[in-house]
Amino acid sequence: MSSPTTRDWQDLDRAHHVHPFTDPKVLAGKGVRVMTRAEGIYVWDSDGNKILDGMAGLWCVNVGYGRRELIDAATRQLETLPFYNSFFQSAVPTQIELAHKLAQLTPHGLNHFFYANSGSEANDTVIRLVRHYWKVLGKPKKRTFIARTQGYHGSTLAAVSLGGMGAMRAMDGEPLPGFEQIQHPHWYTQGGTSSLEAFGREAAGRLEKKILELGAENVAAFIGEPVQGAGGVFQPPPGYWAEIQRICKKYDVLLVADEVICGFGRTGEWFGSHTYDIAPDLMPMAKGLSSGYLPISAVAMRDEFFRVINDGGAVVHGFTYSGHPVSCAVALANIELMQRENLVEHVRNDVGPYLHRCLQELAREQLIVGEIRGVGLIAAIQLIKDKNTRAAFTAQDEAAIKCREICIRNGLIMRAVDQAMVLSPPLVITRSEIDELIDKAKAGLELTAQQFGL
Ligand SMILES: *Cc1c(COP(=O)(O)O)cnc(C)c1O
Repeated sequence: MSSPTTRDWQDLDRAHHVHPFTDPKVLAGKGVRVMTRAEGIYVWDSDGNKILDGMAGLWCVNVGYGRRELIDAATRQLETLPFYNSFFQSAVPTQIELAHKLAQLTPHGLNHFFYANSGSEANDTVIRLVRHYWKVLGKPKKRTFIARTQGYHGSTLAAVSLGGMGAMRAMDGEPLPGFEQIQHPHWYTQGGTSSLEAFGREAAGRLEKKILELGAENVAAFIGEPVQGAGGVFQPPPGYWAEIQRICKKYDVLLVADEVICGFGRTGEWFGSHTYDIAPDLMPMAKGLSSGYLPISAVAMRDEFFRVINDGGAVVHGFTYSGHPVSCAVALANIELMQRENLVEHVRNDVGPYLHRCLQELAREQLIVGEIRGVGLIAAIQLIKDKNTRAAFTAQDEAAIKCREICIRNGLIMRAVDQAMVLSPPLVITRSEIDELIDKAKAGLELTAQQFGL
């Protein structure tokens, strides 16, 4: 086809391309938006519209688009050795160098890494390794995982069961056995009159209750995102993670911090576990690991955990592309770039606090905004029907979806999650680019409010 038009692509997309997390009928009705190029924090669609990418692709393009260092690293590795496996006692330098680099960045004691290609695969790996671990220790009954409502851990059969997204768990029947949930902490909707600190302790106490209900002898691990991302951006109340850790220790339950979004600077530290002083036994990571330039994920393991695995015989698990040499090369270049440009400090000391100050101001001005959540460069703007009574929009109102559509037409990508607008911009964003983001968000919120007579 000679230079296809947007219409051509939309027709072919409709005819042949089935999209993730999309209602095919709704999409067919309006036609897909085709993205054709990107630079820095901006993407361009096939009609030439320039759009500020407030979601960094899908929480992942942390160093921004078009970074020469990552492109060159990929090219060099493609030319030298595009693929070799790591199954049968062999390895490629980029795999080894990346594991060494990660050991320096992850919290103390996490020094062993298993590679996969996505966050979902990393979490499936966690499930298999954790159950193996307890078997090796002679406690094969410890198989059940406890996770949280609104938790997101991926979309494979096991990762969906681990996650707490109601629609996902319901789509193809019911979750697998051995996956239990506790309610996620959200003070604004659950806290009532209690202080944040008291609420944090109480919310963490839900884990202890659940462990006692199931019997600690059956519970393998608790998994949580340091800040819950795809479920709507819920940062933990103060004291929550300390209490969770105390409970895990008390009942001999492993702690897994899903760092797929929080990892690599998003919260203003290298990992969310640093921000919230979490010492996990395992840490799956993906997204920001390669800034999304190529698929790669890893599971970090604590020394004590690996020692047990080490004594357990063959690890009969892995993927053809575990530690893909080119993905590893890109991840290394990505991390080196983050270090050279001090991107973690940039988020922690400069743009993270700046974004949240701007959002708080927006919340004070806008009747449609109930609360601002998040930390660093992850944030949610909760839309609300009545600020004083905290009356929420209903799903039928589709306030967030309307706001998302208005914003994208005005040149800003935000994600709609339930009735919140979610932001997770590239970490390289500057203050003046944040000003532009806020101006566009404000215009979008005002137009949305008008639609509801606010
Ligand atoms: C995105 C995400 C995953 C799943 O990663 P995929 O690469 O999409 O499989 C897992 N956990 C968290 C916290 C995520 O945000």
